[in-house]
Amino acid sequence: MEMPAPDARIMAKKAKLVSRLQQVLPKDAVIHDEFETRAYECDALTAYKCPPLCAVLPSSTEEVAAVLKICHEEGVPVVPRGSGTSLAGGALPTADCVILGVAKLSAVLETNYDDRYIRVQTGRTNLSVTGAVEENDFFYAPDPSSQLACAIAGNIAMNSGGAHCLKYGVTTNNLLGVTMVQMDGTIVEIGGAYLDAAGYDLLGIICGSEGQMGVVTEATLRILRKPEGARPVLMGFDDNEVAGACVADIIKAGVLPVAIEFMDRPVIRATEAFAGAGYPDCEALLIVEVEGSPQEIDDQLAKIMDIARKHNPVELRESTSAEESAKIWLGRKSAFGAMGQINDYMCLDGTIPVSELPYVLKRIGELSKQYGLDVGNVFHAGDGNMHPLILFNANKEGDLELCEAMGADILRLCVEVGGCLTGEHGVGIEKRDLMFDQFAPEDLEAQMKVKDVFDPKWLLNPAKVFPLSATETRRAG
Ligand SMILES: Cc1cc2nc3c(=O)[nH]c(=O)nc-3n(C[C@H](O)[C@H](O)[C@H](O)COP(=O)(O)OP(=O)(O)OC[C@H]3O[C@@H](n4cnc5c(N)ncnc54)[C@H](O)[C@@H]3O)c2cc1C
Repeated sequence: MEMPAPDARIMAKKAKLVSRLQQVLPKDAVIHDEFETRAYECDALTAYKCPPLCAVLPSSTEEVAAVLKICHEEGVPVVPRGSGTSLAGGALPTADCVILGVAKLSAVLETNYDDRYIRVQTGRTNLSVTGAVEENDFFYAPDPSSQLACAIAGNIAMNSGGAHCLKYGVTTNNLLGVTMVQMDGTIVEIGGAYLDAAGYDLLGIICGSEGQMGVVTEATLRILRKPEGARPVLMGFDDNEVAGACVADIIKAGVLPVAIEFMDRPVIRATEAFAGAGYPDCEALLIVEVEGSPQEIDDQLAKIMDIARKHNPVELRESTSAEESAKIWLGRKSAFGAMGQINDYMCLDGTIPVSELPYVLKRIGELSKQYGLDVGNVFHAGDGNMHPLILFNANKEGDLELCEAMGADILRLCVEVGGCLTGEHGVGIEKRDLMFDQFAPEDLEAQMKVKDVFDPKWLLNPAKVFPLSATETRRAG
């Protein structure tokens, strides 16, 4: 879906803007050639594309501040960008915007093992944060499947999670402080290198605010000691709903595995063909992992296997070696890529109470029949964070629209059962127009008043998160 081209008025602004930006950044850090800006026309929600007016790649917080000050004075919208892996269109440009990429801000600024934190520039990729501390047996817990590519900047903006967040929490539970540049160029420090800073919990507002409050350039992250050991177990079932019920029972029993991941038959088959992880051929598969000392692992797994046996699994296989564990996880981490090899798909992200898993899986199956579109399910079941992948044909007229309509129905179902529109991917442009299904107008108004404070002209990441009509009214005002 192409977005409208910029109008003449906007193009006239471009020359002046580029010349001002080149006064504060090296020339090659201002990308304004029509073809080169195409590299920034979309993120991982590739159904939506729109080249920006230009893109900038600053190398320091001060350069970010200088860019924002100019854009603020010129009234030009700014879309912050990390690695562009958002599945919600969070980093999608508008035709009149500057893309502000933080990829060059990737340094480690400080590591402190006594107080267990690391301070990094936010363009650093998620996995390389652990890479910087693993030599000393530490790690950074939030582990999105995209962790090789996605940046801490995007993780903070989307409050990202991952397979191991069942035990360790998502980004907000592992973020201690940020340096953020406001739209007018003011640099502010929020939080610190300690828990629960004094004053309002502004960090809680910034984390998950989808690039709407400021551009985060530095972050202080909690790091943890690596556990003594970890062991996953594979559980196969001949029914999706039964697997869902098993997850609900494990959580209800009060055992806390580090991860409970779910895959259904379409995903198991695609993943097996792609990664050869040795998964059994069954309707639904769970990967349940526990951590601790060998004794702790044995005790927790004994309880979990007892619960699983009550649900008549067709396979119950405990990993017996580090190689086997790595292979089990390789399959899960390759699942999205494997599905992408066989079909176009739209990846949804909604959260539900875990006890509703069996019902929601059944309803997704019914919706799949109603719309005539297949669905693959692969998700963080322990947190109730669902990722139905709706398969469609991008070259078939009307298929994308059908897929979007079915996706909206699934997300409404999540809200209906007491869950919410997003678990970890954010609202972006994808779920913007469903926000009234989740929030009453006065609830949304309260959230928009927060944006009014941080970005009174509504120039930062426009047309995202809040329904378009609300966004437009705000900017006009
Ligand atoms: C194959 C695949 C698997 C994925 N798996 C997971 C998963 O398991 N868990 C999960 O949570 N997500 C997952 N994602 C989604 C995505 O990787 C995350 O949302 C990630 O945090 C985005 O990071 P990014 O650096 O790519 O951000 P971008 O896509 O560049 O931007 C995302 C948002 O952050 C804002 N932003 C970027 N930089 C800044 C900044 N400096 N200051 C303020 N705002 C900023 C942008 O404006 C945008 O709104 C997956 C994506 C893919 C493609």
